[in-house]
Amino acid sequence: MLLPYTSRWATFALLILSPCSMLPVVAADTPPNLIVIFCDDLGYGDLGCYGSTKNRTPQIDRLAEGGMRFSDFYSSSPVCTPSRASLMTGCYPRRVGMHEDATGHWVLIPRSRRGLHPAETTVAEILKAQGYATACVGKWHLGDQPEHLPTAHGFDFYYGIPYSNDMQVAKRGDPPLPLVQQTTVIEAPATQSTLTQRYTEQVVSFIEKHQKQRFFIYLPHTFPHLPLFASDKFRGKSANGRYGDSVEEIDWSTGEIMNCLERLGLTENTLVIFTSDNGSNGRNGGSNRPLAGAKGSTMEGGMRVPFIAHWPGRIAAGTRCTELATMMDLLPTFCSLTAARLPEKPIDGFDLSPLLFQSPGAKSAYQAFYYYRRRQLQAVRVGDWKYHLPLQATHPRWTSAEPTGPGRAAKLVNLRQDLAEKNDASQTHPQVVSRLKRHAQEAMATLGNDANEGSQQRPARTLKTSSPMTLAAPVP
Ligand code: MG
Repeated sequence: MLLPYTSRWATFALLILSPCSMLPVVAADTPPNLIVIFCDDLGYGDLGCYGSTKNRTPQIDRLAEGGMRFSDFYSSSPVCTPSRASLMTGCYPRRVGMHEDATGHWVLIPRSRRGLHPAETTVAEILKAQGYATACVGKWHLGDQPEHLPTAHGFDFYYGIPYSNDMQVAKRGDPPLPLVQQTTVIEAPATQSTLTQRYTEQVVSFIEKHQKQRFFIYLPHTFPHLPLFASDKFRGKSANGRYGDSVEEIDWSTGEIMNCLERLGLTENTLVIFTSDNGSNGRNGGSNRPLAGAKGSTMEGGMRVPFIAHWPGRIAAGTRCTELATMMDLLPTFCSLTAARLPEKPIDGFDLSPLLFQSPGAKSAYQAFYYYRRRQLQAVRVGDWKYHLPLQATHPRWTSAEPTGPGRAAKLVNLRQDLAEKNDASQTHPQVVSRLKRHAQEAMATLGNDANEGSQQRPARTLKTSSPMTLAAPVP
């Protein structure tokens, strides 16, 4: 008998039929509060629990000790906007039109007329319909016009900057970096040194206010994206310079949120996720070690990111998952945990519950994972094999660990044996190359490649006009 993908009866049947008495009680009957702490450009090697010896991250390390840490978790893009589109929709960025636009911008810039299409179903809309109070606190970057802000995509509350903190380029006509509440600019330029502190206060306040109901909080931090800032309490304190200061303030912030949950007796009923939108650029103190490549690159360091899931009593403490999972999985996982229906339109992610709850025999649901950069499919992973497609040209600024210059030859690597992605195994494994090429062709046909549209692509929305948001009138 086939069970519906996300029904509570499926969960019930799983509990009754499972031979494993240790299987935690998951459930639709007790859906958890959901908090996603989402850093900007935090690298794979930037946390103590992922091997950093420079950044002090005791609070985040404690989160990992009390939950599950993933070794092979991927963002769907090595840059900001597409990665966030995946988290919100459960789709590859190209499927929802949020990859690079026709003007050549990798990510959205201020006053862009483009934004996430209202016809897409976001994870916030799904949870709001399930009775959750929803908040987005931090950097959005899926469109800065009021029609594209979080409040138009299922969030009851929004407080943060609408795009990256380096986007106040005068010669491009960018306005001063706005700090926005709901759809109104409340400060410009935003004082960046206190952003992490103020985000934390907003999150704690939202939890306190909604402690009697279920809540979903999405906290996309501004840092450690450049330029780096930290508040007085953290500035100049880290052995890793300004980068470390900003990471250690995010660690403090995580501790404050966990303390708040503990104080209100909500820890046992809250799933906390900690992750990053893409890899570090590898300069300025950031690290993707032991991975090769950096932000903007389809080497592992550009797209494989830390991922910690913490839910005491439900997710076993101190566990590690080595199965492939991605940012696209959050939406279907949250649907599963709250007995919500999946969006009607096709998505690409999968429910992580079997991995999180260590169901017997649980494996990654991905037949293949696609590494897109800009508009281009650059690599595909199946199992431990990764096939780098041949490229006409590579971008030298972002690809220090890759061959740069006029182009790149195809290469097959085994990620379990060769994390540096150095040794080409295509000559000894031609059948693997053929198999991965078939997957790549399927992705190009359905999701598209370069200027070629895919058969399953859906558009972003482009407004007819746009304008800079203006400051609210001062409060009398
Ligand atoms: Mg980023």
